[in-house]
Amino acid sequence: GSAVGIGAGTARLAASRGAKVVVSDMNAKDGQELVDAIRAEGGEAIYQHCDVTDESQVEALMRAAADAFGGIDVLHNNAGVHESSLSKDLTLESMSRDTFEKVMNINVTGVWLCAKYALPFLRASDCASIINAGSTSSLSGYPQCQAYGASKGAVMQLSKMLAVDLAPDSIRVNCYCPGSIHTQIVDNFLAAAPDPQAMLNTMTQTHLIPRMGQPADVAELVCFLASPESKFVNGAVWTIDGGSLAWRGTLDVLGMEVKA
Ligand code: NAP
Repeated sequence: GSAVGIGAGTARLAASRGAKVVVSDMNAKDGQELVDAIRAEGGEAIYQHCDVTDESQVEALMRAAADAFGGIDVLHNNAGVHESSLSKDLTLESMSRDTFEKVMNINVTGVWLCAKYALPFLRASDCASIINAGSTSSLSGYPQCQAYGASKGAVMQLSKMLAVDLAPDSIRVNCYCPGSIHTQIVDNFLAAAPDPQAMLNTMTQTHLIPRMGQPADVAELVCFLASPESKFVNGAVWTIDGGSLAWRGTLDVLGMEVKA
């Protein structure tokens, strides 16, 4: 899921720091453009098409990564979808089972499948790390997020279970939980809200740092979790949310305003 958004920001930052990067997504156009941009900046990257819900494509992705670069050290499970990108029917009465299951399939089963097929290669690495994209909705309630919140809660727990099961293989597994980061997924979510401006204010008004996050903010954390500098961090759930889950309030209480 690294053609755009947080995944793309992370791929770019990691490549700029010397990582050999496999950009993988269902969005081939943006994915290939990102690879071209990374190479133009002197980095090493390839594009490999993959739907994370398709077991054979996931297996092929991991093999292609290992063939290209001699192994796999880091798996960043970033592909994700919110129900508002799939349907306008987001209430309990109106949402279809198909929408609910699609979100769970991409956000949870996709993470599990990628970990499963990366495992043989991660076992062979001496600095292996899996980094899973949770969300503040792994930890807290939000309106119109039934499938997404359920899936991200599962990703958080799956991360802990994998950290336990893969500890004997010296593979670290961590989950990071972003607040509102300005990407397409958030734009779609806002567009689906009855009052997008009010929803944006609600989301951003809780950040103690009074703005939306940017993909580059999250990329810094993912690169840290991927690096040997974080070698004692394992099974962690790391919020990166401008402080929104640290308190119960909105910025007006502090006499602050959201910055554009
Ligand atoms: P994004 O801009 O929508 O990027 C998500 C990427 O995942 C897209 O390139 C998308 O491809 C890809 N993808 C979707 N389904 C896939 C599948 N079945 N197989 C492979 N790739 C697939 O979203 P983002 O904001 O960067 O989000 C990245 C991750 O962070 C997600 O897991 C998201 O839930 C999480 N997150 C984001 C925020 C936020 O505020 N942005 C907050 C908390 C957590 P298409 O474009 O082709 O669909």
